[in-house]
Amino acid sequence: MPTIETIDVYRVRVPLVYPFRTAYGSDDVVEPVLVRMGSGKLYGWGEGQAFQFPTYCPEYGAGVFVTIRNVLAPMLIGRKIDSGDELHRLIACFKGNPFAKGTLDMAWWDLYAKSRNEPLWRTLGGVRDVVETGADFGAMESIDALLSKIGEAMKAGFKRVKLKFCPGWDVDMVHAVRTAFPNTTFHIDCNSGYTLKDIDMFKRLDRYNLAMIEQPMMNDDLVDHATLARQIQTPICLDESVTSVDKARKAIEIKACRWVNIKPIRVGGLTPALKIHDLCAAAGIPCWVGGMLETAVGASHCAAMATLPNMKYPNDVFPSSRFFKVDLGRPELFLSGPSQMTLPKAIGLGNEPDPEMLERLTVEKASLKA
Ligand code: MG
Repeated sequence: MPTIETIDVYRVRVPLVYPFRTAYGSDDVVEPVLVRMGSGKLYGWGEGQAFQFPTYCPEYGAGVFVTIRNVLAPMLIGRKIDSGDELHRLIACFKGNPFAKGTLDMAWWDLYAKSRNEPLWRTLGGVRDVVETGADFGAMESIDALLSKIGEAMKAGFKRVKLKFCPGWDVDMVHAVRTAFPNTTFHIDCNSGYTLKDIDMFKRLDRYNLAMIEQPMMNDDLVDHATLARQIQTPICLDESVTSVDKARKAIEIKACRWVNIKPIRVGGLTPALKIHDLCAAAGIPCWVGGMLETAVGASHCAAMATLPNMKYPNDVFPSSRFFKVDLGRPELFLSGPSQMTLPKAIGLGNEPDPEMLERLTVEKASLKA
């Protein structure tokens, strides 16, 4: 790989089509940070979408931007970086900040795939060019509204439905959904809204034959998840808690989960995501890919990750037109059916921001040169 000669960092603000509601609150806009990493004639794109405020995790848009500009990018600029591991070694002295590190890591992978003249998903070791996507529903104004949305998703051919689960939108909702759809594959995502005090409620959920319960306990917890896992039959899937390869190793060791939702950006990019994928595969723990409401650029990285062999459940990788009226990249690029995406044959990521749209949506920009 040639030397990293330029790193451009953009903090952009993209309005959502409708407010995104989870156990954490409600968002009207997202503030992803995009990185364009250049080397000779080639360049790669990465995206870190950590939300506008630190509600999902300790990182957030403006913080990711400053961390990349002031701390991380200066360590990489002018360097010849031959592997993702080497990139991470150069910034390993800085603690945490997986979203900021992951944005750079993903830009490097796009650049690397282009230097090898192959599609990114092939460079990553993908084994399929079509990936399944699931249908996800947040809390709605009524159960009837939810049931009708699920009915539409089933008709459209979605193979599984994920339900956001939070106080006031919990067991009664699951009961109504299971009664209306006795054979559909469902799971719930608690977004770390509960504690071990709620163990009886989770026991009651066992009767609804959910595919998994995603992140029921605290956002950085492993131990309470292991405790809960011993007392319920429904498998637990970790999401927020898996922020690094090391956290994944520990989760497996203490049997905190039977599934892992890998969001490449949450774990520090594709390099650690690949290692977590392999660790889980070796332990017999299947995975799937989640998203962070990325624009089409970040969603394309997620789609590439979803082509790996141990991804065993329909993914949260969506055409971003579902979330955004205007998008940086081409949201429908990979869509090949209502519930599937076909990866591109183009070299690299196969998606990049439209320059005019990027300029329109950018609120802050920095450029580093070797
Ligand atoms: Mg989740």
